[in-house]
Amino acid sequence: MEKKKINVTIDGRPYEVGGGKSILEACNEIGISIPSLCYLKDVSYNASCGICVVELKGAKTLVRSCVTNIREGMEVVTHSPQIDQARKMNLELLLANHPKDCLVCERNGNCELQDLSAVLGIKEDAFPRTKPHMEPDNSSLALIRNPDKCILCGRCVAVCAEVQSVFAIDFTGRGLRSRIGTFEDKGLGNVACTSCGQCALVCPTAAIVERDETNEVFADLYDKDKVVIVQTAPAIRVGIGEAMGMEEGALVTGQMVAALRKLGFDKIFDTQFTADLTIMEEGYELIHRIKSGGTLPMVTSCSPGWIKFIEHFFPKSLEHLSTCKSPQQMFGAVAKTYYAEKMNIDPRKLVVVSIMPCTAKKFECKRPEMKSAFHYWQEKMGLQEGESFYDVDYVLTTRELAKMFKRKGVDFEHLHVEEFDKPLGISTGAGVIFGATGGVMEAAVRTAYEVITGKPLDKIDLNVVRGFEGIKEAELDLAGTKIKVAVAHTLKNARTLLEQIEEGKSPYAFIEVMTCPGGCLGGGGQPIPTTWAIRQKRADSIYREDKLHPIRKSHENPAIKAIYEEFLTEPLGHISHELLHTAYTERGIY
Ligand code: SF4
Ligand code: SF4
Ligand code: SF4
Repeated sequence: MEKKKINVTIDGRPYEVGGGKSILEACNEIGISIPSLCYLKDVSYNASCGICVVELKGAKTLVRSCVTNIREGMEVVTHSPQIDQARKMNLELLLANHPKDCLVCERNGNCELQDLSAVLGIKEDAFPRTKPHMEPDNSSLALIRNPDKCILCGRCVAVCAEVQSVFAIDFTGRGLRSRIGTFEDKGLGNVACTSCGQCALVCPTAAIVERDETNEVFADLYDKDKVVIVQTAPAIRVGIGEAMGMEEGALVTGQMVAALRKLGFDKIFDTQFTADLTIMEEGYELIHRIKSGGTLPMVTSCSPGWIKFIEHFFPKSLEHLSTCKSPQQMFGAVAKTYYAEKMNIDPRKLVVVSIMPCTAKKFECKRPEMKSAFHYWQEKMGLQEGESFYDVDYVLTTRELAKMFKRKGVDFEHLHVEEFDKPLGISTGAGVIFGATGGVMEAAVRTAYEVITGKPLDKIDLNVVRGFEGIKEAELDLAGTKIKVAVAHTLKNARTLLEQIEEGKSPYAFIEVMTCPGGCLGGGGQPIPTTWAIRQKRADSIYREDKLHPIRKSHENPAIKAIYEEFLTEPLGHISHELLHTAYTERGIY
């Protein structure tokens, strides 16, 4: 509830602002911008950077506006020579230990520290370096940490703890040896990090970045011996335009396809095709569990950060997870079997590249069990273990894809729209909404209702599971059987639902969990910045695309009908089990 309005004076002018806020937030509300590096709305208030200082009438020193509450009658000055000097000196102190190698830096051109240095007029090294050099942490398949570039703002620690409830990283050491570390310095790849990338998304510098695989993908694109195909997740079409300089949440599906063709991919396919396939397999799995008295609630398994989280923190509950692979992994498996066979392509020469909003997908595609296509071909082609290959070869984030477009000089905004290739590019509106929290649930209901009742669904939009509330629930009537379902985004909210399950108090039959705030559209690999206002614009575009789609239910996708007729035979059948379903691994909590 908005607190009572109060009257204040800011920069000599009277304003009425909402109470119960910090000075910084009150100023933002009326369009006065105060720079900061460590503040992160609703998440991080550790007041460590000292950039947001302001003058407050009656105070003996400058105050940090992110942690000072605004009060009736306050007189605040946000810009003055004294403030500018203090901000500049605080920044110079942070920069003393910073490498400043912007030209060869991952965040060059999209870095808050770099931008602020320009804004505050930093021209020289004002203070000598005092900290020892620290080696990067290369242990994670998804992320790289470079402690030399860390300014100890604490945003990553706050997001990991407060949003994800994972606590994989924290402040460690003292004085000049202060740094962000993992348990016993084991490295991100060896602790209970979920690879979600939310830390990289909020880091104001290049101290945490995704593992960049753009060079490897370019090398395969230039290799004439290889057939390189690409799949794009639903959330890319509402994020890549932004990363290419267009407005926030721009819906650019057709331009994205055209730009991928310009990069030289042999076929442009859509992860939404396998999102539809997931709905078929997962929907039938749910129906089977309900009818046969199987383990309920069944919980979705599309989001690899979530899978790693439950493997680390709730291994006793793994049987609640659907056995369905994620759409990305289903795509790799059917591309290197069904599609390779259909097109007479040697699966060893077929390279599958995924464009994902998610850093955890980089971890997921390298899980040892994600080699189902190799096992499919092993006997048929007499392949040796040494020739094994993964179903998905590379995962690039939205940010990495933007780098590739820029490197190739693609004039993204002015491209004419083009269509996905067939058959793995054919999808439905149900596939699109996988990109937003609640989307998998809504898509599943559209299919499950019609399969169970045999009747068309009157109202396709399931508004009750849309929006950014942390946990949403609904009661559904499936031909007289009433079931309760729930939707959670962020691992903190998922933890609440898991605790209910482990206490035997879960009232639900089916639960959707997405790791990242807002779902995939707010994934750790999406453009920086990603705020709630931006997430909302991306969600609006996703639901707009769904509305525009001529087919909005997964079971009506003609390419899905064809793959069952030509190859898989039936949902949950023998080939589906081999290629589309998986098992999970118990992991420790460090
Ligand atoms: S993190 Fe930012 S300021 Fe630091 S080297 Fe990279 S681009 Fe430059
Ligand atoms: S990737 Fe996610 S879980 Fe791992 S440290 Fe970052 S925020 Fe925490
Ligand atoms: S790693 Fe990035 S987000 Fe974390 S404390 Fe360092 S600079 Fe801040």
